[in-house]
This record gives sequence, C-alpha cells and structure tokens, in this order.
Amino acid sequence: MLSLLLATNNKDKIAELQILFKDLNVQLITPADIRLELDVIEDGRTYAENASKKAFAFAQASGLLSLADDSGLEVDALHGEPGLYSARYGSTNGIKLSAPERRKYLIGKLSLFPRPWRARFKATIAIADMRSCFQIVEGVCEGEIISEERGAGGFGYDPIFLLSEMGRTMAELSMDEKNRLSHRAKAAIKAKDLLRRLAET
Ligand code: IMP
Repeated sequence: MLSLLLATNNKDKIAELQILFKDLNVQLITPADIRLELDVIEDGRTYAENASKKAFAFAQASGLLSLADDSGLEVDALHGEPGLYSARYGSTNGIKLSAPERRKYLIGKLSLFPRPWRARFKATIAIADMRSCFQIVEGVCEGEIISEERGAGGFGYDPIFLLSEMGRTMAELSMDEKNRLSHRAKAAIKAKDLLRRLAET
C-alpha cells in the first residue's frame, strides 16, 4: 500500500487531513509515527512556495511521499493580512501570540473599519517525493470576520470566521461539515485525484 507522510507538526491540521484522506487506499503516516522532528522555515513569498518547501523537506528527511498544507486567512479591509503570516500574526520579538490572542489582535485592527469584514481562508496542498515537488493545488473558502467568538470546533481563526450564507462560524460546524466546505477540503479533493492514481500504480 502507498504510504503518505502528512508533512506538518500542527495537530489540528493532521486531524483534518487524516479525515480528508481516510477514504483513499493510502497509509497515512504522521511525523510522530516515524519520530521525525523537523521544523521548516516558512520564508516563501506564496502559500505554494511554503507548501512545496515543507513537502519536499519532509520527503527528503523521511524518504516517503509527503503532503504539506500551507494556509492562511486574508481580510479585504487589511489588504489581505494576515495572509502568509496567519500563524504568527501580531507576534513581536520572537514571542508568538496564542490563537485566542491572534483573534483578539485581528478584531482590534478591524474595529476601525466598517462592516462586513469580508475575508477568505486559502489553502495550498503540495505533494513531493525525494526528487521533487510534483503537485500543487489550491482551495478557497469565502466568509467574513465577526467580532464575537462563536463555536468550539476547529482551530485558529475558526470561531470568528462566519460562513455568511450558512450564518454559522467555522467553529460551529461539525468536523464533517468543515471537511466538506473548508479551503483545505477543496484543495484536498483536487489532491485526491493524483493520490488515487499513484495508489493504483
Ligand atoms: P501555516 O499553514 O502553518 O502557515 O499556518 C496557517 C495558519 O492559518 C494557522 O496557524 C491558522 O492560524 C490559520 N488557519 C489555516 N487554516 C485554518 C483553518 O482551517 N481554520 C482556522 N485557522 C486556519
């Protein structure tokens, strides 16, 4: 059976990716499963550069086919911030804010702007082997930022990201619902086509 390393140290992403790819005939492996400790510096100029850098670094370190996700939140009023810096938004002097602190920081910045605060999550998934990175796919999920936190699911900015048409935040969705609608789910659907073909060969 084809083995696929989930090239991330983010436990929340691992949990989502494990569900998104569970119906494939592929053995999903985490860095912890193979005692791989690898921190890749995310210094790319795009999600695609960061995702391919992570996938390739994990593939080279493990010898396994590897899949990485790079994602972020883009808010129109802030000209696309926090974007590539979503994980370290508001951090100074190497001190990283927690996810609730980052949500507060974002809402503080937005409070100067008129609502609705339109925003989108973007995810890029890259797949690499030891020689190269050979697939990059993207997914987008549109919504808006709200000033009060709602819901206990998901992670990161989910409690303040409203799916406007549903009237629910990403954190108010079940894991199954998030995994049908999210930016990561949309990118995963595209990545699955290639993984199915690889699993058959
Ligand atoms: P990175 O891909 O490791 O650079 O981290 C992306 C960051 O974007 C995460 O730490 C979260 O803050 C945010 N993010 C990405 N995807 C999601 C999501 O599905 N829900 C909430 N926040 C997310």
